[in-house]
Amino acid sequence: MNIDRRRRALLAALAGAGLWPLGARARPALKGHVAIVGGGFGGAVCAQTLRRFAPQLKITLIEPRAQFYTGPMSNLAVAGGWALDRVRRTPPHVEGIRLVGQRARALETDPLVLHLADGVRLRADRIVVSPGVQMRYAEIDGLTADNSARVPHAWLGDAQVEILRARVAALEDGATVVIAPPAGAYRCPPGPYERAALIAWQLRQRNIRRARILIVDGKDDFTKRAAMQAEWARLYPGVIEWVPRAQGGEVLAVDVQQQQVTLASGEKIRADLISLIPPQQAAGFAQDTGLADGSGWCPVQLSSFESTRAPGVYVIGDASLAEPMPKSAFSAAAQARLTALGVIASLRGEAPPQGLLMNTCFSLMAPDRAVSVSASYRALGGRLNSVSSGVSASDASDAIRAREAALAYAWYAQASAEAFGGPSDA
Ligand SMILES: Cc1cc2nc3c(=O)[nH]c(=O)nc-3n(C[C@H](O)[C@H](O)[C@H](O)COP(=O)(O)OP(=O)(O)OC[C@H]3O[C@@H](n4cnc5c(N)ncnc54)[C@H](O)[C@@H]3O)c2cc1C
Repeated sequence: MNIDRRRRALLAALAGAGLWPLGARARPALKGHVAIVGGGFGGAVCAQTLRRFAPQLKITLIEPRAQFYTGPMSNLAVAGGWALDRVRRTPPHVEGIRLVGQRARALETDPLVLHLADGVRLRADRIVVSPGVQMRYAEIDGLTADNSARVPHAWLGDAQVEILRARVAALEDGATVVIAPPAGAYRCPPGPYERAALIAWQLRQRNIRRARILIVDGKDDFTKRAAMQAEWARLYPGVIEWVPRAQGGEVLAVDVQQQQVTLASGEKIRADLISLIPPQQAAGFAQDTGLADGSGWCPVQLSSFESTRAPGVYVIGDASLAEPMPKSAFSAAAQARLTALGVIASLRGEAPPQGLLMNTCFSLMAPDRAVSVSASYRALGGRLNSVSSGVSASDASDAIRAREAALAYAWYAQASAEAFGGPSDA
């Protein structure tokens, strides 16, 4: 290829990725205000990407929490394999992103205005929404937002992470632990099963041999099942037991006082520790503003993540309806990057870039062993299609499991640095 053709090919590639206009001198400077609701993985990566590729934009990130625990690696912290401060993060405090420590409360769409809890109104040219999930406590008899800390899900990066960690540390020989994953779509599909493995690892560290970890499930299958079950059998024989929905595993009711769950099978199980992960939906902001539909999640045009219910508003991360992408930090960050480039393109009056979305979910089976599932997705005909995928083999060697664990730590360091700043070797 001669230099001219190579240059044209490069420019075409940059245009495809939405980056071409950014370096071009002939273009007028991009102006506008992008407001982002939620400073977790999706919102923070979106803000950082906008700042990087369109520093002329005014970027406001609205996040009420001064700090939180990340979902990724929180199971390791819950099991005592990491100190809690290794998973504690703050929203990004960087030049070029105006961080507002408030809760967004309402949304007007014509023109686009966000109402904050303190009464401030923010006029924006585009709004990106990444508020995460909320729990549907009422779907389990006996469970409320107030009493759920007694059966901690530790799924929202808040004080329940500390509570669950303390409860795990207090388990004694002969303990029964119940972990209850929900039915339906939820944040981090492999998370409950990783949690079971890491709690088993913690018990073994303390030489607790007579323990039982029961996973009572609202589903009949789970991601990476063959590889995970092979690891449980190899590392913690006889400790972890999985009861699928078809065998009546779904939790219908809980008595937090008695520490007892009632399963669909009618069986009542008392445990020393229950981690009850309730059914989920997009967070309250998405429900209150009508961005979510009857499914509880927010429908979007999958080529751009622009809401189908509110033009100029983009919904990314766990709150969006982006099946078959799993609700993960990896997915949220991939959607955030593509959406940031799409927002820039849209402010220029151009079509959004057509990118490939990737996800990999690592699950630690012990601090030095992991399994993973990966896939890439492309929007076509109003759907997200998986164009490639792979999952860890159930009979992989010890060296491969160790290598996957090293990749999991490397991914976490990079992903949290990209979102929240700080060293990427944290
Ligand atoms: C135990 C566990 C393990 C996990 N492990 C992994 C893993 O290994 N890999 C992986 O990729 N993912 C993992 N995840 C999933 C990951 O944490 C989520 O998918 C990811 O955080 C989603 O990003 P998000 O931006 O959608 O939501 P979040 O990161 O939850 O961010 C949402 C933010 O929005 C804020 N917010 C909510 N409402 C408002 C409002 N009205 N106004 C302003 N701000 C608001 C919230 O305070 C919150 O900080 C795990 C999750 C859990 C629970």
